[in-house]
Amino acid sequence: MDLKILTDFEKQSIGERQPLPERYLRLSDDELDARIASAKATLGERCVILGHHYQRDEVIKFADYIGDSLKLSRAAASRTKADYIVFCGVHFMAESADILRAPHQKVVLPDLAAGCSMADMAAPDQLEICWREMEQLGVRTDALGADGRAGVIPVTYINSSAAIKAFVGAHGGIVCTSTNAQSIMTWAWERGEKLLMLPDQHLGRNTGFKMGVPLDQMVVWDPNEMWGGLDADQVKAAKLILWKGHCSVHTRFTVPQIEAFRKKYPDGRVVAHPECTLDVVRAADESGSTEYIINTVKASPAGAVWAVATEVHLVNRLTAEVPDKTIVTLDPFGCLCSTMFRVSPNHLLWILEGLVEGTIYNQITVPEPTRTDAKLALDRMLAL
Ligand code: SF4
Repeated sequence: MDLKILTDFEKQSIGERQPLPERYLRLSDDELDARIASAKATLGERCVILGHHYQRDEVIKFADYIGDSLKLSRAAASRTKADYIVFCGVHFMAESADILRAPHQKVVLPDLAAGCSMADMAAPDQLEICWREMEQLGVRTDALGADGRAGVIPVTYINSSAAIKAFVGAHGGIVCTSTNAQSIMTWAWERGEKLLMLPDQHLGRNTGFKMGVPLDQMVVWDPNEMWGGLDADQVKAAKLILWKGHCSVHTRFTVPQIEAFRKKYPDGRVVAHPECTLDVVRAADESGSTEYIINTVKASPAGAVWAVATEVHLVNRLTAEVPDKTIVTLDPFGCLCSTMFRVSPNHLLWILEGLVEGTIYNQITVPEPTRTDAKLALDRMLAL
């Protein structure tokens, strides 16, 4: 199903995002396309545009690289001739690019209102309190035991703020992605008795379950409750402590949607992103990161039928790229990442024309010492 999502209403409300100068509002699609292409051509190799898989079509068609957040940050760092990295994604992605960039490069996010609701569910002060309260509940947070292992190792999904990554880096922890979560958790359990996995409880639960951790050895830490809403016995017995965060896009997929799909397409298969709930992942045939989903669907035989449980822009593009297969979004209304969607072609044009004129708008800079500590956590992952 191809859903039309850039409605006339949405075009009119473009100014409700990060405010733009009046001259960038109410431009026709043709004018936007022509001016973006012209500014991009003028900047040439001095500018690299990155587009996340969930980004809208009108923007991503100008991307030099398309991928997940880590792949894009690495791509940017490898394009050393580029002075400017324009990240068409959300805030935490631009922060990661700023941490991994070459010294002369500057990272720009076209709309500063493009955040991530999941990343916002873990604030640095909440993590500091959690760390302190875990110690009070009898978990060794920083000191090593007789076996040389820590009591708990913090693991943060790349979908988190630089401040969270910095805390994790400074406390012996590591970053993971949805592609490498299993190997990162193995690394962490070699170094600690327990894992504190944040901010996405579902990625943590799905990966832990896949690795054979019983559900009764997982607890959910609610940062809005005293002691995370847990008691000392619950925390002590847990192997995996899951931060109470989630993706508002991926948790919209449900088991009844899978049942409805199977009824309509008895031979069809379902592939779900691990940010979906455990019951959805268990009811699906396959589960994996965005790259895994794309590769799995592309590698399937002609005529295959797939329901895909991830953001609708990725699903729509996949549908267009593999016309020999039937691909539908699992949620018939299409799950849209509304914050990623805030990066409009108007914002991209404003950024690029600013760069042509020598003005950098919306530069994302991770300050010290956050940058150094966050890089520690990222580098531990990249070294694996
Ligand atoms: S899809 Fe979910 S996790 Fe990804 S950027 Fe959007 S809100 Fe954040």
